[in-house]
Amino acid sequence: CGIVGYVGHRVALDVVLGGLRRLEYRGYDSAGVALPSDGSLLIERRAGALANLEARLDEVGRDGFTGTSGIGHTRWATHGPPTDRNAHPHRSSDGKVAVVHNGIIENFLELRAELEARGIWAESDTDTETAAHLVALAHAGELAGAEDAAGDLTAAVRAVARRLEGAFTLVVTHADDPDRIVAARRNSPLVLGLGEGETFLASDVAAFIEFTRSAVELGQDQIVTITRDGYTVTDFAGEPVAATPFQVTWDL
Ligand code: GLU
Repeated sequence: CGIVGYVGHRVALDVVLGGLRRLEYRGYDSAGVALPSDGSLLIERRAGALANLEARLDEVGRDGFTGTSGIGHTRWATHGPPTDRNAHPHRSSDGKVAVVHNGIIENFLELRAELEARGIWAESDTDTETAAHLVALAHAGELAGAEDAAGDLTAAVRAVARRLEGAFTLVVTHADDPDRIVAARRNSPLVLGLGEGETFLASDVAAFIEFTRSAVELGQDQIVTITRDGYTVTDFAGEPVAATPFQVTWDL
C-alpha cells in the first residue's frame, strides 16, 4: 500500500522509516524494511502498526543498520492474512533478493506452480513472493527466455515484469548490488525524488519532499533503476524512455 526506496548518503533505515511514516495515511496492516549489508540482506517486518516494526528494530538493535540504500513497505493485504510472515519485504530462497509490492499479481498461482516444479517453495501466502524468486532466478541466468539477464538486476526485473499480470509497483534490492534499486510499474503509482547524491522512490511524493522537491512520475509499463547519481527509465522491452522531472510545489 505504501512503498519507499532510497539510495544515497544518509542512513537508509532512517529515510525509509521516515518515508513510511509519511505514507501512514494510506492505511496498512503490516510494515517492513530490507537493507543490503555486507553481501546479505537485513530484513525486519511486523504485522500491525509501524510502531511494532520500530519496537522490533529496537529489540534487535539498530547499530548494524548503517547502510545507505534500502526499501520499505506498508501492506494492505490482498493475498494471505496480515501476519509477520506475510509482511513485505519478501525474500528469494537464496536470500539475495528482496521485493516489496503494491497491487495484485493475477497469475501468481501459475507462477508459484512453475516455481514449485523447480523445487522452490513459498514461505508466505502472498502473490508477491513469486516475484522475489523469479527475480533471483533471472539474476542467476536461470529464467527461461531471459538468460541474458544474468548478473544484471535491471534486466532481471524487466524479464520478470513481462511475466506478471495484474497491477503492480514492484521494488527490488539485491544483496550483492547495494548501489542500485530497481522498480517496475504497471497500474499502480510510483514517483522518484531526485536529490544531490541521493535518489528516492515512493508511491507518493509525501515520502521524500522533506529532502527534495524535484520529482519524476514513472509511466505505465516502465522500469526504473535508481543510483546515487540519478536514474534510467526503460519500457518493458528495454527501450529507453524519456522522463521529465517536475517540481513539487505544495507543502505537507
Ligand atoms: N498483494 C500483495 C499482498 O497481499 C500486496 C498488497 C499491497 O498492495 O500492499 O501482500
